[in-house]
Amino acid sequence: MGQALSPAAHRARAGADERTCLTSGSELTIEARYIIGAARQEQFPPEGLPEVAFLGRSNVGKSSLLNRLLGGQRLARTSGRPGCTQLIHFYGVDGRFCFVDLPGYGYAEVSREQSAKWKELIEAYLGKRRSLALSLLLLDTRRGWMEKDLELKQWLEFHGRRYVVVATKVDKLKSQSERQRGLAAIGRHSEESIAFSAVTGQGVREIWQAIWKTQDKR
Ligand code: GDP
Repeated sequence: MGQALSPAAHRARAGADERTCLTSGSELTIEARYIIGAARQEQFPPEGLPEVAFLGRSNVGKSSLLNRLLGGQRLARTSGRPGCTQLIHFYGVDGRFCFVDLPGYGYAEVSREQSAKWKELIEAYLGKRRSLALSLLLLDTRRGWMEKDLELKQWLEFHGRRYVVVATKVDKLKSQSERQRGLAAIGRHSEESIAFSAVTGQGVREIWQAIWKTQDKR
């Protein structure tokens, strides 16, 4: 069983997070601070600020989205590769939110035991966390919904959790018709989704708007 990474142990690596940065194209400065990497529920930080969870298959573009939302800051995180301890990473953002980076799912090569551990950790967080205000469910626009994504969506709905679908890597679909087809396929299982590209920055504003709205709802 892996250990939680204490803030002290992370300080050197997370040093880059503890600076203020300028988000691209705006005057806003956003400060992100690493809080902890939790391997078990007991290691989650105390409840408090509204939390925004980032969920998606491995390689969907989750860290690129986080970095882009935070204006290019590279967030500290351990490898999410199979075989490594799966951690939930908590970041304080601007003293207003907590961003929660959940381990990616869908590696073909993970064992049944690893997959069960992932499920247990994620469900402990998504099922019980009172501070959880919004989940961003990321889908690769080229691939659309896959079985595990649909399971997770149904699970969120069953537990009455608010979520927004983010269609990632939209710049990889070069023609307008390809993009429309990809987004329409995603739209078959979700009322609304935000098209996002970490390369062009498309969708950053809409995602921040969805995050800000969580404060109005409290
Ligand atoms: P994660 O495993 O979900 O955290 O995914 P990453 O953010 O590490 O991205 C996986 C790969 O997709 C990397 O090679 C990224 O450079 C690439 N990628 C992520 N987002 C985008 C995007 O919006 N556009 C393009 N073209 N590539 C992206």
